[in-house]
Amino acid sequence: MPWSVTIGRIAGTAVRIHITFILFLVWIGASALRRDGGDAALRNVLFIVLLFACVLLHEFGHILTARRFGVKTPEVTLLPIGGVASLERIPEKPGQELAVALAGPAVNIVIAFALILAAGAVIPQEMQKIDDPRISMVARLAGANLFLAIFNLIPAFPMDGGRVLHALLTMKMGPQRATQVAAHIGQGFAFVLGFAGLFGNPMLLFIAIFVYVAAAGEAQDSALRSAVTGLRVMDAMETRIASIPLEVSLGDAVDVLLATPQHEFPVLDGHRKPAGLLMRGDLIAALRDRPRESPLAEVMRAPVPTVRLSQDLGEAMTMLGAGGAPALCVVDEAGALAGLLTRETMAEMMMIKSAQPDWTFKRRW
Ligand SMILES: [Zn+2]
Repeated sequence: MPWSVTIGRIAGTAVRIHITFILFLVWIGASALRRDGGDAALRNVLFIVLLFACVLLHEFGHILTARRFGVKTPEVTLLPIGGVASLERIPEKPGQELAVALAGPAVNIVIAFALILAAGAVIPQEMQKIDDPRISMVARLAGANLFLAIFNLIPAFPMDGGRVLHALLTMKMGPQRATQVAAHIGQGFAFVLGFAGLFGNPMLLFIAIFVYVAAAGEAQDSALRSAVTGLRVMDAMETRIASIPLEVSLGDAVDVLLATPQHEFPVLDGHRKPAGLLMRGDLIAALRDRPRESPLAEVMRAPVPTVRLSQDLGEAMTMLGAGGAPALCVVDEAGALAGLLTRETMAEMMMIKSAQPDWTFKRRW
């Protein structure tokens, strides 16, 4: 996540803190300092730091469980609203997804009970006033952990409860249908939360909007992921594509542009290996201040992102999404161009899958 700093590594996962979290700490400290003096400020900051240590432990509940199922977890980021662990993927087996989702809230429940045991007895009324500095830190932390566990079990993406629901539904009706149903239930909960927010805590309204948007995004992403499961790059690539030789001029490239409906063109060297990618927009922009005889090599984007024919389509999709590349060149074993993978084709595949969920794509190579 941008705007975050790495503060260390725990068990091979980078722990990062988002800049807004540091600002939040400063704000908590400064406002308490003005109101109640230095002692209260220190206690408030300490409370928040301890609370976020609990959030971090919660995330490591997810991370260590995911790792048991072979899922890599490169980093976890702390934000003022909680922690975000970046799992490389969601385990496909619903039982594993369920275990990973439950592991986070389970950690908070264990911490809460450990704190209650340590303190002897904690009065339930005390645990509810987690923002009252006069109440003991242990009681407040215990209350906050119980709140974290319950809040995270709201059955809506991106809460852990949404994952729990998704895993349970997958066992009943398969992954694709489960995602749609879970997303609908999640959005239903967002409405209920938002309604409660209108009449009570405005914070709930923000959470409701957040949940609503996340549920919609998750449904889309998950549908895409499940549609490409088991597919390879060669199943999805465009094969009827025009390419442009590296040594031609801008004028020649314009001829190819006009002759085809394509917007992205692989530029090939003498061995038919991709040397770059020419974008329609770049070509038009270049014509404004360059003569038509200018070499193409000055305008194309290089190096060009490439994928192998047999590469996993999900991996290629991640490259298309993360790298901001408009298209990927598909190459054979010799490194020569075999096809092009674009967002448009992926979108077309999705439309076909949503019209006929059990459609199987023909191998195009
Ligand atoms: Zn969680």
